[in-house]
Amino acid sequence: AKQSGRATHRFFTSELQEKALERLKIERLLRKAVENQEFELYYQPQVDLRNGRVIGCEALIRWNHPGMGQVSPARFIPVAEHSNLIIEIGDWVIREVCRQAKRWQDQGLRLKVSFNVSARQFMRPAELLQVLRGALDDTGVTPSLLEIEMTESLLLDPHGLGTVLDEIRALGIHLALDDFGTGYSSLSYLRRFPIDILKIDRSFVSDSDKNEDDAEMVKTIIGMAHNLKMSLIAEGVETAGQASMLTEYGCEVAQGYHYSRPMQVAAFETLLQQRPPH
Ligand code: C2E
Ligand code: CA
Ligand code: CA
Ligand code: CA
Repeated sequence: AKQSGRATHRFFTSELQEKALERLKIERLLRKAVENQEFELYYQPQVDLRNGRVIGCEALIRWNHPGMGQVSPARFIPVAEHSNLIIEIGDWVIREVCRQAKRWQDQGLRLKVSFNVSARQFMRPAELLQVLRGALDDTGVTPSLLEIEMTESLLLDPHGLGTVLDEIRALGIHLALDDFGTGYSSLSYLRRFPIDILKIDRSFVSDSDKNEDDAEMVKTIIGMAHNLKMSLIAEGVETAGQASMLTEYGCEVAQGYHYSRPMQVAAFETLLQQRPPH
């Protein structure tokens, strides 16, 4: 009877319930992770396609859980966003990025550091601005070395967004639109907001050397960005062929495994010594 009970239980534990349980478990562990400072930032280089030099990097969060090992952001960021823990985590990312960017600045490197800000953080604009101002003041980093990556979905809910973005721009921080091409933002959105940089989504880049439609799409995005006086970063560049195609189309900067995976600070600094910026 015991065995059939267990079997019945398993039968009724739907995939949905399992997902909910997993979410709850991660949420509980995430709360502790914030307290115990289990997060770390990795950095992935952004390379000038014309001369191969590292001109910047993207900060990507990693969660080192004592029992589970490293948990990928794809698994915990959605949970963090759902539970609003993303606010605390995001605040930590901002402060840590500013500290690191200032360290590099003090070493005489001219390196831009971009970081991801969730739509949830933009939903609390006063707090976001306060944390940004606080981190700039505390560290003394030059704001123009910083770049915020936000996703297109944000632009679809533009209530009050223009004001926050203008204020961030007024602080001297640059704005990049992440995963460009996957959402629904139109030209009018792009013109409406003070966006400096478009990041071409990996999905177009990865097939662009095999698929003519994707190559056309990349070409179109590059032309459009240039018309709007925006600069471009191609994401997910994995092959030399993709890099040369992007260079030919006039894209300025690339990021992807072809150059390097995201790395811990020490490894990234070693790479910088081999390929110094400027
Ligand atoms: P994203 O912002 O689009 O970041 C790029 C992702 O693509 C990173 O995954 C990076 O490791 C990966 N990637 C880079 N180059 C290549 C490549 O050549 N090929 C392939 N296949 N992948 C490449 P990661 O680090 O796992 O991050 C996943 C997502 O998690 C990020 O996507 C971002 O949406 C989110 N995320 C990461 N860090 C943060 C953070 O600090 N705050 C917030 N709110 N979200 C973050
Ligand atoms: Ca990003
Ligand atoms: Ca992206
Ligand atoms: Ca993404």
